[in-house]
Parts: sequence; C-alpha cells; structure tokens
Amino acid sequence: MTAKAPSERTRVKRAFVRATYERDAVYAILDAQPLCHVGYVKDGHPFVTPTFQWREGDRVYWHGSSASQALRAAKSARVCLTVSCLDGFVMARSGFHHSVNYRSAMILGEAEIVEDEAAKVKHLDTFIDGLFPGQSGLIRPMNTQEKKATTVLSMPIEEYSAKIRGEGPIDDEEDYALPIWAGVIPVHQTVGEPIPDPRNLPDVEMPDCIRDFRMAQAQQWDPAKD
Ligand SMILES: Cc1cc2nc3c(=O)[nH]c(=O)nc-3n(C[C@H](O)[C@H](O)[C@H](O)COP(=O)(O)OP(=O)(O)OC[C@H]3O[C@@H](n4cnc5c(N)ncnc54)[C@H](O)[C@@H]3O)c2cc1C
Repeated sequence: MTAKAPSERTRVKRAFVRATYERDAVYAILDAQPLCHVGYVKDGHPFVTPTFQWREGDRVYWHGSSASQALRAAKSARVCLTVSCLDGFVMARSGFHHSVNYRSAMILGEAEIVEDEAAKVKHLDTFIDGLFPGQSGLIRPMNTQEKKATTVLSMPIEEYSAKIRGEGPIDDEEDYALPIWAGVIPVHQTVGEPIPDPRNLPDVEMPDCIRDFRMAQAQQWDPAKD
C-alpha cells in the first residue's frame, strides 16, 4: 500500500495491501482504459452508466448526448466514476481462492458541466486526439447543432483510490499438495485490422493515427519477478 487515502470513504478496507493512492498509479489506469462507469443516484435509485472518459491533467472528463438522462442527472450531482482493466484469471486449487488480476480506479466527486462552447470543442478534440493523435484535424468540424447536442462533464481527481492485483494464486498451504493445476490465464485487449467503410471515396488513404492505433497493453504477472 502506498501514500494515504484522500478520504476515509476512499480508504480500501478489504485486501488493503492491493490499494494505492499514488496519483501516478491512478492516472496510469485512467490513461490505459477509456471505458469507465459513472454511478449516480436519481430519484433515490442508483444508476451506473458505461461511457468513455479521458484525463486532462488533474481532471477527468466524459461526454454524451445533452438529452441523456445519465448526463442530465450527473450535472452538479455527486458521482462515482470507475475504470477497470482485467489482466488475468487467477486459477487456484480451491474455488474460494480463484481470483482475477486487475487494475482499477475509483474517483468520487461533483460533476461540473463545461458551459463554454469553445472549451467544450477543445476538450472533445483532446478526447479524440488522445486516442487517435491528429484525428480531430482530419475530420469535419462540429456544427452548431452537434455542439448543442453534446454535453461535456468533468470533475477534479481529488478523492480517489486504486486497487491492483498482479500475482499468481494464493492457496491454503495444505492445498499445494493437491494434484490440481493452478496459475494465471493472462487477458489482453487486442485491436483488429481496421475495416474500411465501403462508402469511402476512392484514393482516400487510411491515416496513420488509425493504422497505428493500439490499446494499452495489460500488465501481466511474471512469476520470475515474485
Ligand atoms: C475486474 C474486477 C473484478 C473483480 N471481481 C471481484 C469479485 O468477483 N469478488 C470480489 O470480492 N471482488 C472483486 N473485485 C474487487 C472489488 O472491486 C472490490 O475491491 C472488493 O470486492 C472489495 O469491495 P468492498 O466494497 O468490500 O471494498 P472496501 O475496501 O470496503 O471499499 C472502501 C473503498 O475502497 C475503495 N475501493 C474498493 N475497491 C476498489 C477497487 N476495486 N478499485 C479502486 N478502489 C476501490 C473505494 O474508494 C471504496 O469506497 C474485482 C475487481 C475488478 C477490477
């Protein structure tokens, strides 16, 4: 465990040795996996919406349709945003000790809406260029209707926690004598060959930012390092 939890409610209690409150560790998780889940309470009921996030310095951003219930409810509301990377299935000698290797981050805060239109477009360009460097300059700029239809939310990364498991099975001592295979099945997120739209104009080349696109690699358990 490293650093101190920013608040009591983000202090990891279960399996706390896997916790980290280092900013760099949290940022690395956010930067590795754009898919996040944003949780909020509406009319007394919790909702958790999967969406994309991106980080700019010490803030996390997400966006969506201005008509979205999730975005309207999250505006100025308290939210919980999580990002998880699945790195492996941990196969143990008992069901109880089966586990997963993962990196996950949880951020609590109050969602703020980006009202300024120019700032909104700039943030959206940063989002797209973060995944596909230079793509925002290659595509048609947003029109007035699209800007109106898109809401961008953000919150400071102040109250957060991260949890990381990256090791083999941990079995009960007596179970190591059992003739049962144990170990880790690594999980990688891979990207396939881009498939061109049949309506692409002739002679339009695939840009480098699409050809070179890769997801961040999983952190894999290396028994030699244990
Ligand atoms: C892909 C994946 C699969 C998982 N599968 C399982 C499973 O099947 N069973 C299981 O028991 N656990 C699983 N976990 C771990 C799970 O996310 C919780 O850490 C664990 O269940 C402890 O929950 P708790 O509410 O008791 O945590 P507590 O320690 O009581 O939570 C207190 C605070 O710790 C922080 N915290 C807790 N968990 C996390 C986390 N994962 N990431 C960042 N901050 C966290 C939060 O700020 C939270 O408010 C999985 C995690 C991932 C990423």
